[in-house]
Amino acid sequence: MLEQKILNIKTQALEDIEKAQSEKELLDLRVKYLGRKSEFNKILKSLKNLSLEEKKKIGPLANSVKKEIDEEIKKAEKIIKSKVDLEKEKIDITAPGKKIKRGHLHPLTIVQNEIENIFVSMGFEIADGPEVETEFYAFDALNIPKDHPARDAWDTFWLKAQTNADDTQTNTDKIQYKSVLLRPHTSPVQVRYMQKNQPPFRIIAPGKCFRHEATDASHEHTFYQFEALVVGDDINAGHFKYIAEEFFSKFFKKKIKVRLRPSFFPFTEPSFEFDINCTVCGGKGCSACQGTGWSEIGGAGMVNQKVFEVSGYPKNKYQGFAWGFGIERLAMIKYKIDDVRLFHGGDLRFIKQF
Ligand SMILES: [Zn+2]
Repeated sequence: MLEQKILNIKTQALEDIEKAQSEKELLDLRVKYLGRKSEFNKILKSLKNLSLEEKKKIGPLANSVKKEIDEEIKKAEKIIKSKVDLEKEKIDITAPGKKIKRGHLHPLTIVQNEIENIFVSMGFEIADGPEVETEFYAFDALNIPKDHPARDAWDTFWLKAQTNADDTQTNTDKIQYKSVLLRPHTSPVQVRYMQKNQPPFRIIAPGKCFRHEATDASHEHTFYQFEALVVGDDINAGHFKYIAEEFFSKFFKKKIKVRLRPSFFPFTEPSFEFDINCTVCGGKGCSACQGTGWSEIGGAGMVNQKVFEVSGYPKNKYQGFAWGFGIERLAMIKYKIDDVRLFHGGDLRFIKQF
């Protein structure tokens, strides 16, 4: 009688376990069949009232059935758990894709690329030079006298370069330093190029420069400069004005006029500062140009013959013009940016606008 009861519970339990669909259902079944208040537990408790002979017969049966139900529940739990895991890993191939975040070019790179494209289309070659320069290329070769304030540590980042690395370990007194620096302008590229090339040629040299100075809305210690150099037998300032107007008109996609004002640079003779007519008002005068109708852009001039001589050209054989401006300045006019520090500030809210 009791034996049959146990076997009935077993049959019912196994049936229920097979039908169970979730871990929760299995937990309920465990409570129902093996819990403290379960019918099965009552049977186990009542065993003590049986005769010894019956105990010997029913006891092991009850225990083996209990064990079997327990194992079946565990097995079922495992199967359901693996199904759930599989469900989690399943890929829905119909789901819309996640958008990949792509980077983009920095506004200064965009502007530099535009400048290069325009000049290459006008037959210019792009020249390059080191950012760590010697005092010779940065100043001496460009006719900048020894006492020129630009050589002052206030304007230039001077570096100490060891000329003999082997001595340094043992005897620091023997270290010799030569004058190297972070280039404060791109003009050293002119001399480096001319030492290796003969006129006629036209080059541009865009690149990174460094100045030891306090930053504000229009000054940065690190900035990009653009420089152009055209040398031939009879190059004159008119050529400069024409090429500059061509370039700026193409860059701003409207007719731009260039104005020269007398100035002084050691490496050009004569020298000018040059302005372009205001891109906002076209020259009538507005708040962007303080009512003048012009925007100051950069410097230019006819290459000083002393620079040609240093580069190995005979004196008075060639003529050429050089001119340059800050790439940030051009980008600020083009995109109406009022603080140069935004370019290198790393603020994504600024960068993402381009
Ligand atoms: Zn204006």
